[in-house]
Amino acid sequence: MKLIDGKETSKVIRREIAEEVKQILKDGGKRPHLAAVLVGHDGGSESYVKGKMRACEEVGFKSSLIRYEVNVTEEELLSKVRELNEDPDIDGFIVQLPLPKHISEQKVIETIDPRKDVDGFHPQNVGRMAIGLPSFVSATPQGILELLKRYEIETEGRHCVIVGRSNIVGRPLSILMSQKGYPGNATVTVCHSRTPNIEEVCRQADILIAAIGSPGFVKEDMVKKGAIVIDVGTTRMPSTKTKSGWKLRGDVDFDNVAPKTSYITPVPGGVGPMTITSLIINTLKAAKKEIYN
Ligand code: NAP
Repeated sequence: MKLIDGKETSKVIRREIAEEVKQILKDGGKRPHLAAVLVGHDGGSESYVKGKMRACEEVGFKSSLIRYEVNVTEEELLSKVRELNEDPDIDGFIVQLPLPKHISEQKVIETIDPRKDVDGFHPQNVGRMAIGLPSFVSATPQGILELLKRYEIETEGRHCVIVGRSNIVGRPLSILMSQKGYPGNATVTVCHSRTPNIEEVCRQADILIAAIGSPGFVKEDMVKKGAIVIDVGTTRMPSTKTKSGWKLRGDVDFDNVAPKTSYITPVPGGVGPMTITSLIINTLKAAKKEIYN
């Protein structure tokens, strides 16, 4: 069994990007610039955005944080989005989700210029991804593909079972894993809450990806010997052993499943650390006009 270390991989990628930024500046180019719009003071969103800003600093990007109180109107927010679309110094930006109920997230997403949509949530990017055109791919699926690449895990011809069909994880992953090329060329099965005999389907997986948010759901008897297991789940569980009072648990019963696998991602330290790094990768692509020119 080999552990897929997302923390270390993420560090390596950030170092590579920092080097590239230095080179861009040396060649007289512009420093990549990511902006983040944060509405309200939700603890989770605050810490995600902080992590994103810190990552920018680490790789030498410029970053801007635009804050609004929770009572900001939809129109105010949309007009900021339009302004960021037009700002030539900003290569990419994100509007941190979730937004307060009185604001349509879909409307906000669709107002973002797809060329600056480094979260990859705009339907144009999702559509382009689905038909294999260059696109900004959302952070979690991209982070998983990057891990598969970095660990040189063969995907061609393999049976990939994905548990979960959300728009941010399961659905895009199912498309990407079945696409032509690497990582891809896999035969994909998507499971969800209406799938009967889910245990049996999981047992057929060469690559099993769990993205449901149900701690310890994947048990030892659901995994084929030698399978590759990617655990996307992150559920906060109360804990007396940590300072914060909680610890993260994945969708896989790690201790019992790990010995059966050839590769497995831990939680924490697997897929999670790759998500912010994926945003950094997308921002660099936006700055280099790699997707749209
Ligand atoms: P979501 O939108 O709640 O979707 C969950 C999916 O799992 C749904 O498709 C649901 O099926 C399916 N599901 C739930 N319980 C199931 C069960 N018992 N059997 C079979 N399928 C079941 O969740 P999400 O946003 O994709 O996130 C999934 C997990 O990944 C969460 O723990 C989340 O915190 C974590 N996550 C982690 C990262 C990271 O960076 N590591 C990023 C994103 C998400 P239906 O469609 O039928 O309801």
